Amino acid sequence: MGLVLFGLTGGLGSGKSTVAARFRAQGLPVIDADALAREVVAKGTEGLEAVVRAFGPEVLLPDGSLDRARVAAIVFADPEKRRLLNAIVHPRITALTMERAAALEARGERLGCYEAALLVENGIADMFRPLVVVAVPEAVQIARAMARDGATEDEVRARLAAQLPLASKIAVADHVIDNAGDRAATERQADEVLASIRARLGVPAGADRPGSGHGA
Ligand code: ADP
Repeated sequence: MGLVLFGLTGGLGSGKSTVAARFRAQGLPVIDADALAREVVAKGTEGLEAVVRAFGPEVLLPDGSLDRARVAAIVFADPEKRRLLNAIVHPRITALTMERAAALEARGERLGCYEAALLVENGIADMFRPLVVVAVPEAVQIARAMARDGATEDEVRARLAAQLPLASKIAVADHVIDNAGDRAATERQADEVLASIRARLGVPAGADRPGSGHGA
């Protein structure tokens, strides 16, 4: 029996990581696209070498790691540079995602979650069905992102402008988690959604945790 990877998405600061943490606590393996995006350009990787070939050594910090703020500023200002960066990073993220998924499958997992901010924007939402979208009103999203990142409202709004509005993601979602309330309310919804996905796919709690025998 193969592995089903379902999608978890939302907007900046909508609560994806919060829901992903709850899924993990319930024993579900989660592949975090954001973490993979860092991994493929980590110090010493061939991905970082490719970025330096394209953008020059000035995108490196003195310790030889990628100056992410510098790169963000460059690609934010220049769509051509953004395409260039994406052409380097995206195929490597895809390859690493497939590698991680294969490893999960090899150890007998039947269900996992792929957490990614831009699943819908990148046109790959249908590869990760059912799709779970974490939603909050925009004002909450902005306030939480500002608090988490120590950013100004303008900075958060500028980053939001590169994403589809949450309403467009809700429109293509199979499950929506409303994260406008407290964490306990969100965790309850996350548990319900996970139970519903497990039931629909016929993967009982615990079956995605080989050797554990217990789930939620
Ligand atoms: P995302 O991964 O979608 O960017 P996070 O899960 O990091 O969003 O949530 C954004 C910020 O809001 C984090 O600092 C998180 O701790 C906080 N947060 C998330 N959900 C809630 C909630 N229900 N109540 C209060 N704060 C929350």
